[in-house]
Amino acid sequence: MVKHQNLPILPHHQPRRYGSSDRCIYCGSLDGLTKEHIIPYALGGTWIFPKASCKTCAKITAAFEGQFCRTILGPLRMLYNMPTRRPKERPRHLALKVKYPSSNDWEIAYVDRDICPFLIGLPLYPLPSALTGKQTNEVSGSATREFWLRGGGFWQDRDSHLQWLCNILGAVQVMPMAEVQTDPFCLTLAKIAHAFTAAELGNGGFKPFLTEMVRHRDVSRCSELIGGGRGNEMPSEAVHEIKFDEEAASKGLIVVFVRLLAVLGAPTYSVVSGTTN
Ligand SMILES: [Zn+2]
Repeated sequence: MVKHQNLPILPHHQPRRYGSSDRCIYCGSLDGLTKEHIIPYALGGTWIFPKASCKTCAKITAAFEGQFCRTILGPLRMLYNMPTRRPKERPRHLALKVKYPSSNDWEIAYVDRDICPFLIGLPLYPLPSALTGKQTNEVSGSATREFWLRGGGFWQDRDSHLQWLCNILGAVQVMPMAEVQTDPFCLTLAKIAHAFTAAELGNGGFKPFLTEMVRHRDVSRCSELIGGGRGNEMPSEAVHEIKFDEEAASKGLIVVFVRLLAVLGAPTYSVVSGTTN
């Protein structure tokens, strides 16, 4: 079997370095400032905002970004060998749903990560209500019933890989799994949009909406400020894409389009990061 025949090469993220911030962009502290990666280092992000986060806030953002990168994107990051500060903690095995001839129930098998296919699931939302003016109270916080799903880690075509796994596992059916956690995903989007806005416009250059969400890991305003990802979008040439929504600017709102893994065709999210002063 030929390994990972159609694995696209991930392009490098074009590096960018902003001028230093003079205070923590989340809490305003002047002490112990460290550089901020606008897009997480674990996703190959190379946009640096120097002296932009205090140690307390850096700890908070690193925790939810790490959770997002390890869970939803964990298998994908291993497949592409994306950066990690803890290579020894990478799991050797991934979970796979398996049905054996002896039972009708699905069971979980742990399969070597080099041969285990997986699913990536990113949540899909209506556009943020701050942008549309429409309240969406269907589900609260970061919860949703809809996901963008993509298979990954297939050695060649999906069916022959799954059949091959059935044979070696003695199973009648196998099914790749996705680990979906929406809170850390939305918090990561909020952090990226806020850091990008502060880097581009300066700390005093806008009235921020997202600092409380980030600092307190509070997702209660998610449907108001974060949404999108519904279009069926073509893969981009860039690995990640972050830019301002020029149309929203005419309404006095600052909205950031955040498209992580744009090169794989992942969805674009609209994140309302504040208003113009
Ligand atoms: Zn801080």
